[in-house]
Amino acid sequence: MRSLAYDRLFIGGRWEQPATEQRLSVISPHTEEPVGETPEASPEDVDRAVRAARTAFDEGPWPRLRVDERIDRIEKLATIYASETDAIADLITAEMGSPRSFSRLGQGAGALAQMHLTMATAREFPWVERRRGLFGDVHLRRAPVGVVGAIVPWNVPQFLIMPKLIPALIAGCTVVVKPAPETPLDAMWLAEMLSEIDLPEGVVSIVPGGRDTGESLVRHPGVDKISFTGSSATGRHIAALCGGQLKRVSLELGGKSAAIVLDDADIAHTVKQLKMASLMNNGQACVAQTRILVSERKHDEVVDALAVMMSALQVGDPADAATDVGPLVAQRQQERVQGYIRAGVDEGARIVLGGSDKPHDRGWYVQPTLFTDATNDMRIAREEIFGPVLTVLKYADEKDAIRIANDTDYGLAGSVWTADVAHGLEIAAEIRTGTYGINMYTLDTTAPFGGFKQSGIGREFGAEGLSEYVELQSTVSAGKLPNLA
Ligand code: NAD
Repeated sequence: MRSLAYDRLFIGGRWEQPATEQRLSVISPHTEEPVGETPEASPEDVDRAVRAARTAFDEGPWPRLRVDERIDRIEKLATIYASETDAIADLITAEMGSPRSFSRLGQGAGALAQMHLTMATAREFPWVERRRGLFGDVHLRRAPVGVVGAIVPWNVPQFLIMPKLIPALIAGCTVVVKPAPETPLDAMWLAEMLSEIDLPEGVVSIVPGGRDTGESLVRHPGVDKISFTGSSATGRHIAALCGGQLKRVSLELGGKSAAIVLDDADIAHTVKQLKMASLMNNGQACVAQTRILVSERKHDEVVDALAVMMSALQVGDPADAATDVGPLVAQRQQERVQGYIRAGVDEGARIVLGGSDKPHDRGWYVQPTLFTDATNDMRIAREEIFGPVLTVLKYADEKDAIRIANDTDYGLAGSVWTADVAHGLEIAAEIRTGTYGINMYTLDTTAPFGGFKQSGIGREFGAEGLSEYVELQSTVSAGKLPNLA
C-alpha cells in the first residue's frame, strides 16, 4: 500500500514544503475513519506553482519541444500508470466511496485509456497547416494556450484530470492542477508518477485544496486558461472571474438528463441499462439519467421493472466487488440528498422504493430511492441531486416527452429507448444536449463531450478536446513560405 500521508506539495515538479500548516484530512465515507492526509495548498503555494509554470512556459524547453517529444514523455507516464490502474481505482474507492465494480473501470482504466486516446489524437492533429490565402499561402499554427489552471471535482477525479492535463501537456502548455479536497491522495500519487518522467522544471504542479485554493488559481494573472469541471453554480462564478481578465475558460458542469422510454422500448433491456446509466458511481455522475420519462400506457410496467432492479441493488462497502451502491462522498452530501428526498415527498411525489432514512448506522449511505407521481416543476426533477435517486415523469405523447426532456436549465446528456433506432436519431436531433444515447447511455471518450445550456462551454475528448488547449496563429509572408516538413 502507498504512503497515504504526504507532507509536501508537488510544485513545479519538485516536492516542496507547503507555506502553511493547513492539512486536508481524507475520511472514509464507509467507515468514517481517516484514510490519509495531505497539505492544503494556500494561495501562496498556488502563486509559487503559477510562477513556476509561467517561467517554464515563457522561457523553458517544454513548449519548444517537438510534439512527438512531448508525446514520448506521456507514453512513459502511461506505462507507469498502467501498472497501477487498479490500485489507484481502489484508492479512489477508499477516498470517496465509488463502488469497486465502477471504479476499476470508470476511475482507473478509464483514466489510462484517455492517455492513450489523447496521444493517438495528437499524432494525427493538424499542429501546422497551410491555407490558400488572399496574398499567397497562410501558415496556420496551433500554438499552446499557455499556463493552464485545471480544477476538478471529487466524483471521478483521475478520469477528469486526464482530459485536461494530457492534452494541455501535449499541446505544450504548463499546468497547475487543483484537485478537490475530498480526493487529494490519488492526485498526489499521480504527482509521484509525474516526477518519474523527467519533465522540465515548472511544467506541472498539483495543489490540492478547496474553494480558496481554486479561486486563487482562477484569479492569478499568470494563468492564461482555466479548465474547470464542477457544479454550474461554481462554473458561473469562475466564468465571471475569467471574463474580468478575458482569460480563456472551458467549463464542464452539471446535468439533469432525461431518459425517454418510448412505448416500443424493450423494457427489460432499458431497465438493465439504466442500472448503470442512472445509478453509476452511487448516482454521483454528471451524466446520470435521473429523469425517466414514460407514457401513461407503459408507466406501471416501467415503474415495476425499475423497482425490481433497484430493490435488488447491493448497498454497502464500496471495496466489496459485489457492491452496486456505496456511500456518498461526505456527510453534507448525504444530508443534501436526504433533503431532496424529503422535498420530493413535500411537493407531492410518491416514493415507490427507498426514502430519506439512513440504511446503515455507520457511513454516509442513502437508500436507492424511486419517485413517481412527480412533475417536472418539482425540485427533484429540476435540480441535480447527485445521489441514487430516480424520478419517473409521465408524458402525454412523444412531442410532450421531448418538451419535458428539454425543459431544464441543463443540457449535458440524455437517452431514448425504442425499437426503432432511426427514429431514435430523429428524437436525438430534437434534444438540446451535448451527448445522447439510443438504447444505451455511456461516454465515448473518442467523441466530443460537453454541455449545451448551463451544462458548460467547450468540449473534452478527441480533436475538439485538444483544440481547447491551443491558440490559432496565422502567418502571411511576402516571400514564398518553405514547404511544410
Ligand atoms: P464544485 O463546483 O463545488 O467543486 C468543483 C471543484 O471546484 C472543486 O475542486 C472545488 O474545490 C473547486 N471550487 C469550488 N469553489 C471554487 C471557486 N470559487 N473557485 C475555484 N474553484 C472552486 O462541484 P462538486 O459539487 O464538488 O462536484 C460535483 C459537480 O461537478 C456536479 O454538479 C457534477 O455534475 C459536476 N461534474 C461535471 C462533469 C462534466 O464533465 N460535465 C463531470 C463530473 C462532475
